Amino acid sequence: MAKRGRSGRAYRVLRAHVQAQPYGWTCCRCGQPISPDYPPRHPRSWSLDHLDPLSRGGSLLDPERARGAHYGCNSSHGRSLQTAEPQSRAW
Ligand SMILES: [Zn+2]
Repeated sequence: MAKRGRSGRAYRVLRAHVQAQPYGWTCCRCGQPISPDYPPRHPRSWSLDHLDPLSRGGSLLDPERARGAHYGCNSSHGRSLQTAEPQSRAW
């Protein structure tokens, strides 16, 4: 199977695979259940997380290493949220 990015069909299949597992709706970072009622990109919404950092050779599409996590818990590691704040310009 050719390796594709996060937008490919294989990635969506992986999401569905993880969400179908018994652990799929428990956050792998804080251990709390994840509710499907939150809109995408909400800090408490579901997101696909990887046990192995992709930057250290983790496989993007390995079902054995993929878990569900809160969007907020997932993005709070590795990538800083502080850079997302747009700066207001003083005119
Ligand atoms: Zn969490």
